[in-house]
Amino acid sequence: MSMSEKYEAVIGLEVHVQLLTKSKAFSSDANEYGAAPNTQLSVITLGHPGTLPRFNRTALEYAVKIGLATNCTIRKENQWARKNYFYPDLPKGYQITQHTTPLCTDGFLVLKMEGYEKKIGITRIHMEEDAGKSMHDQDPYFTLIDLNRAGIPLIEIVSEPDLRTADEAYTYVSEIRKIVRYLDICDGNMEEGSMRCDANVSVRLKGASEFGQKVEVKNMNSIRNVKRAIEHEIIRQIELIEKGERVDQDTRSFDALKGTTTSMRSKEAANDYRYFPEPDLPPIIVSEEYVQKVKSAMPSLPEQLKQQFISLGLSEYDASVLTEEKETANYFMAVCQETKNTKAAVNWVMGPVKSFCNELAISISDFSIPAKTISDLIAMIDEGGMNFSIASQKLFPELLKNPSANPKQLAGEMNLIQQSDEGLILKYIDEALAKFPEKVAEFKGGKTGIASLFMGEVMKLSKGKADPKLTNKLLLEKLNS
Ligand code: ADP
Ligand code: MG
Repeated sequence: MSMSEKYEAVIGLEVHVQLLTKSKAFSSDANEYGAAPNTQLSVITLGHPGTLPRFNRTALEYAVKIGLATNCTIRKENQWARKNYFYPDLPKGYQITQHTTPLCTDGFLVLKMEGYEKKIGITRIHMEEDAGKSMHDQDPYFTLIDLNRAGIPLIEIVSEPDLRTADEAYTYVSEIRKIVRYLDICDGNMEEGSMRCDANVSVRLKGASEFGQKVEVKNMNSIRNVKRAIEHEIIRQIELIEKGERVDQDTRSFDALKGTTTSMRSKEAANDYRYFPEPDLPPIIVSEEYVQKVKSAMPSLPEQLKQQFISLGLSEYDASVLTEEKETANYFMAVCQETKNTKAAVNWVMGPVKSFCNELAISISDFSIPAKTISDLIAMIDEGGMNFSIASQKLFPELLKNPSANPKQLAGEMNLIQQSDEGLILKYIDEALAKFPEKVAEFKGGKTGIASLFMGEVMKLSKGKADPKLTNKLLLEKLNS
């Protein structure tokens, strides 16, 4: 029996999401990534004596949005708590968080895995403030500290230990990133740390009723690395158990270069945070009317849009691809606004448009050709003025260079408009047949496949512009006459 048949992994994730508010959670300092170190700071963030925090209501709105999007219950009365610990990047000596009264509880997400669906419970989502950032790799001797991050509003999304594979964890984090991006509450950028994920991993014998000892793994800066870290951690723990050793309850750090985890601190060194109610902030009261107001202003979520696209006749696959990013879904909808040919809109957006964006690694929101132009192209093809291959291979590249051009006019200037003048096409056909008299005889003798040769010749003579349907019809009429 292989190890993967004998053991089963149990995984619970803690995902931190920085909220894209203009200012910080409890002060008016700017919340902006990439500013010069220690420039976005006030005495409030630094926790100077006599200063008082004031809660940013936009952070609440964003937190309620994610709670609703993950099917949570929103708590009415919310306390703030102080989580006390000493660390150089925490000048106040405590972090304002929620302890016993998280804003959101009892939610879930449904993961669509290959071949099965799985509901993952969300235990809680609470609000807190971020700490500053210690940088250990900027100076050979010193750890440098940037406090710009201190006080940025965060939410922490804690899952139930419902995940069983690294792939499920990968899908779960991808789903959360997709949702926060759709909601416009976070850019979901794990490389820059605006979204971070800690993985709690344990293994047990398959069929066991108790969970094994869990280990927490940190410092994964991409969703792929979350998956790699979990894969490695599962194997490490199985090997320990197989050797008759025990898994220690520790916090481990993922090394992306080696693909391994190393111990950062053990349970013995765990902090006692001495949580107590934050005396400087009143409780936040979240009324039912407020929740309804936030709910009614929520944009469509990816799953809703996907179902909407499926109801327009799209396949499950096309609908998933088009809703992977909000910008793509929006662009597709904008094309559909101007054309009834949904199928063609799918082909254009998933074909030439997406491939171009992928090639340049740009988001479709930076794609320069207006959606209206794509629907114009679709109309030109539907009206018989052009075929898809000329439109996508000749006209589209020119439009990329000149995105504001009128496609019909440009096609005219480029001499690309399809020829559907019967007289002219008949002239080409005559020329083609005259060039290969012996092939005409072969056709008449029964080798009808040879018609494609004449077709090719007409296309050559017309520089690819003869309307293929019409040409084919006229050609066969001529040959069979
Ligand atoms: P702690 O008190 O150590 O922070 P929690 O009970 O708050 O632990 O759980 C933190 C995270 O760990 C949650 O996402 C939870 O689902 C997960 N978790 C709890 N127990 C296990 C386990 N035995 N194996 C894997 N994950 C677990
Ligand atoms: Mg915990």
